[in-house]
Amino acid sequence: MRDFQLELRQRREAGLHRQRREISGPQRPALTVNGQPLLSFCSNDYLGLANHPDNRRVLSEALDENGLGGASSHLICGHHRAHEQLENQLAAFTGRSSALLFSTGYMANLGVISALAGRGDTIFSDRLNHASIVDGCRLSGARVRRYHHGDLEALARMLEETAGHKLVVSDGVFSMDGDVAALVPLAQLCTKHDALLMIDDAHGFGVLGPQGRGSVAAAGLNEEQVPVLMGTLGKAAGTSGAFVAGPAWLTEYLVQKARTYIYTTAMPPALAQASCNSLSLIESFDSQRAHLAALIDRFRDQVTLMGYHLMPSATPIQPIVVGSNEATLALSAELQNRGLLVTAIRPPTVPDGQARLRITLSAAHSFDDLNRLLRALVQCRPDCVVSPVLSEPFAE
Ligand code: PMP
Repeated sequence: MRDFQLELRQRREAGLHRQRREISGPQRPALTVNGQPLLSFCSNDYLGLANHPDNRRVLSEALDENGLGGASSHLICGHHRAHEQLENQLAAFTGRSSALLFSTGYMANLGVISALAGRGDTIFSDRLNHASIVDGCRLSGARVRRYHHGDLEALARMLEETAGHKLVVSDGVFSMDGDVAALVPLAQLCTKHDALLMIDDAHGFGVLGPQGRGSVAAAGLNEEQVPVLMGTLGKAAGTSGAFVAGPAWLTEYLVQKARTYIYTTAMPPALAQASCNSLSLIESFDSQRAHLAALIDRFRDQVTLMGYHLMPSATPIQPIVVGSNEATLALSAELQNRGLLVTAIRPPTVPDGQARLRITLSAAHSFDDLNRLLRALVQCRPDCVVSPVLSEPFAE
């Protein structure tokens, strides 16, 4: 038998051991973590909808109306009118002809990629794509060609020299760096080389673009240019689940072929009803998105002055790259001592030597919340992150 205990010890020694924290009460910036009150800067609840009173009310009314469990897969007897309504609303919201619900984003990526590509086909995938895309590519059995993050010249060369069916897949907003893919040139390349384009907009949906319609809408790309648009509901929408939106043939085909759609229990119908309500809130949340943008600007200005290394991101994902696992864990622990929850992200989630604090901002944060974080970052700044050029003191 493999020595699993040894592997666990080795992980601990390398600073790679993952540990959970127990949250009590609702998700919001003021969290209770292992019984301790902490101000959180690491959730994906970008608009504060995970605990929005309207959503809570809709969910409890929907529970009275439709009960709790999904009870079966969609193709047996689980496909509820509430799912159908949410799919229609998602299609309208994203400007697509149709949408199909999945129980999680991880399952959506696995199911969609493995349905759309197989043996003999080629998938082109950005090196920083989310783990669920990586796993979907593996599962498909297709040949996978990974290009350096954002390197569209390399992608163009690969597309040029490849025959047969081609699927290009990319995050819209990269989950650990926060940057947005160059969607317009990406779509142009795909048209030129007759490749199918799939964008995972888990982190752009609700946040970017007009009325929060996502990174693809922000880039002005329609269904023909981005035929496969995936989004999740567990982040800005504040609920749970995911969807794929696109032409009618796409959703019809996925119902036949996507195994993670076919062989799993449908999401609770009440949750679909709460997600419908989230969509309406997202549409009306321009002022919350403006507040979030102001938080992001202030964070970037101040943290750059402190000499921390930020990524080129204009989204709520604002990682501070520290480098070593140990230094990142130490910084996270220091922040926790000051009442802040910012988790350390280490390999293999990010490349070796690029461990980071993945700070995320939310419209639910106030400027006072942000100032607490900024003050703590000044107090905890380790020598290793201080750039010799940018060493001006932080002035509030
Ligand atoms: N894609 C991306 C880019 C993600 O960041 C995530 C979640 N971390 C997923 C897919 C998976 O979504 P879900 O959490 O709904 O499974």
